[in-house]
Amino acid sequence: MKCICGKSAIHYRDWEKKFYCGPCLSRHVERTFKHTIRKSELIKNSKKIAVAVSGGKDSNTLLYLMSKIKAVELIAISIDEGIAGYRKQTLQSAKKLCNRLNIEHNIISFKKEFGFSMDSIDKNYCSYCGVLRRHLLNKTAHKFGADKIAVGHNMDDEAQSILLNFIRGDMNRFQRLGVSPHVISNKKFVPRIKPLRNIREKEIVLYAMLNRIPFAHASCPYSAHNQRRSIMNFIDKIESEYPDAVIQIVRFYDNLRPMLNKSASKVKINFCQCGEPCSGKKCMACRMIEDIRNER
Ligand code: SF4
Ligand code: ZN
Repeated sequence: MKCICGKSAIHYRDWEKKFYCGPCLSRHVERTFKHTIRKSELIKNSKKIAVAVSGGKDSNTLLYLMSKIKAVELIAISIDEGIAGYRKQTLQSAKKLCNRLNIEHNIISFKKEFGFSMDSIDKNYCSYCGVLRRHLLNKTAHKFGADKIAVGHNMDDEAQSILLNFIRGDMNRFQRLGVSPHVISNKKFVPRIKPLRNIREKEIVLYAMLNRIPFAHASCPYSAHNQRRSIMNFIDKIESEYPDAVIQIVRFYDNLRPMLNKSASKVKINFCQCGEPCSGKKCMACRMIEDIRNER
């Protein structure tokens, strides 16, 4: 099969029924990345961006693409949750890429910050892990003077998050999706941006391989039983019949966005004992840490 440029194709976009060769696919990924940043003004007025790098395909590709933007300073932050057989391997690949791109790499560990690792607690892993990781990312990005945190969420992740919150009936979280989720305005809260959010996961993998970006293939042992995995399987099934399903879910959300913005409630900001901004008296991370410590 041939790409529209005449070269041999390596990829078929079944949702638009077109074939792509390697160079055309790479160009397409880079164009979508730049377009997302420009259209949503993701780095407007930014001087320093913290890139959350896990060492997997998405975040390593994100770091590689971000490093091509010369107007901003970058630092990389990796969180080590303490998950045996997984995190060590991904951290090595994050380190390798940071060294190659000459970007400062900071590894922050649960064990050092909280006194426990994910492997040592007997809890609903992903919900605890996600909250604690976001807490450390915000704290570290703020400490290093970053004005944004770039995360490697791709279009497939976004479609999963849309359906996940829909199924959970979580309107609050549902309203906080999109390329630059508006959570709270406070100088201690570093806003997150998702520059890969309009690129399909399979195209990110191909881009990483075509451009020799190192990435770890390991997946977290706790991911097999989480709700996101069920949604992923559900979307895979739907996609086999409707190849544009993921794109339509994300487009539908984007069309809803203006209405969601109007109805979003203003959150009053307090400060937790740990110094982090939150909506209640105590932040969710501190409540979870207390929970875990009390049970030990
Ligand atoms: Fe943490 Fe769950 Fe992700 Fe594993 S799959 S790193 S436990 S959020
Ligand atoms: Zn707190």
